Amino acid sequence: MILDFLRTMILSIVSFFKRDPVLVSEVVACDRMNICKTCVYLKGSNIINYKCKLCKCYLNYKTKFSASECPAGYWKK
Ligand code: SF4
Repeated sequence: MILDFLRTMILSIVSFFKRDPVLVSEVVACDRMNICKTCVYLKGSNIINYKCKLCKCYLNYKTKFSASECPAGYWKK
C-alpha cells in the first residue's frame, strides 16, 4: 500500500509540474470502479471502504488519479 501510494503521489506531482492531468475524468473513474466492483480482489462492503486486496489501496481514491494502475492490469489504458 505504501509503495503504491508513494508511486502514485510522486507521479502525480510530476504530472502536475508537467501540466498533465493529475486526475482522470469522472467517466474514467466510474469505469475503473465498475471493474473493481466485479473483481475477485475487491474487499469491503461499500464504496467508502472498498479496498484492493493486491495493493491495499482505498479504491474511492485510487480510481481517481491518472497515475494509478490496477496491479492486475484489469483497467483499460
Ligand atoms: S485495482 Fe485492479 S486488482 Fe484491485 S480491485 Fe480494482 S480491478 Fe481488482
